[in-house]
Amino acid sequence: MGRFDGRIAVITGAARGIGFGTATRFAEEGASVAIVDLDESAAGDAAARLPLADGVRAIGVGANVSDEASVDAAFERIVAEFGGVHVLVNNAGITRDNLLFKMTGEDWDLVMGVHLKGAFLMTRAAQKHFVEQKYGKVVNISSTSALGNRGQANYSAAKMGVQGLTRTLGIELGPFGINVNAVAPGFIATEMTDATAARLKMDVEEFRALNAEHNPVRRVGEPADIAAAVTFLASDEASYITGQTLYVDGGVSLGV
Ligand code: NAP
Repeated sequence: MGRFDGRIAVITGAARGIGFGTATRFAEEGASVAIVDLDESAAGDAAARLPLADGVRAIGVGANVSDEASVDAAFERIVAEFGGVHVLVNNAGITRDNLLFKMTGEDWDLVMGVHLKGAFLMTRAAQKHFVEQKYGKVVNISSTSALGNRGQANYSAAKMGVQGLTRTLGIELGPFGINVNAVAPGFIATEMTDATAARLKMDVEEFRALNAEHNPVRRVGEPADIAAAVTFLASDEASYITGQTLYVDGGVSLGV
């Protein structure tokens, strides 16, 4: 018996990385899963790789979370395929890092659009169904960068914005049986951090080792570390927790 038997989970940006790790954990625990990602075929391939329980399905849906029409169409399709939705994980993300004096308006808008507007649009589309059924779980992915990170004014502002959105929706949606929480990862080994290594002209393993050295638990995170926290917050065990942000970062945000 899995914690998510009979549940339908929608996870954005889940064709790879943290999103795929999280989709895998939901599938292992009995959920049907909709993987939403920019590229429909990558989303479909990822869905086909999930370890599904008997009698459940996974689909891949191509959508841009920062585009209202695309989000609404994706939700309609998911609800038509599965007959409903119980869990939404707002995970899709991009970086466009630069120091302020070099950051373009486009870099600002793109990052705000995917992380912050994307979480708003997806949650607004989900809440119609959640409110009707008086049940729903939203988990937003923030970041330790919300606390401030050189070269990430856009990303940091978006990720702290996600925490404000989480608190406010916790207040608004709590009376309807809906929990809204966030997970703020520290360094997680994915293509996103590999791309940062490449930008800094560092070897990927060397970059990971450097980050592990400065982490209280002396390792970098894996997508499974985030999946464990997300699935806890999306489970019924966490029904008295809402509006919160859980830092899953090996203690790096403790600032020691
Ligand atoms: P990743 O490997 O780069 O994966 C992100 C996924 O999101 C990609 O499949 C990407 O698709 C998709 N995506 C981008 N823009 C999208 C859009 N507009 N609509 C739908 N999908 C979109 O990143 P990750 O490391 O797994 O990160 C996942 C989340 O965790 C992000 O929100 C990130 O900010 C956050 N996070 C990551 C870390 C870390 O250390 N890795 C730390 C803190 C927070 P394409 O490949 O087609 O662009």
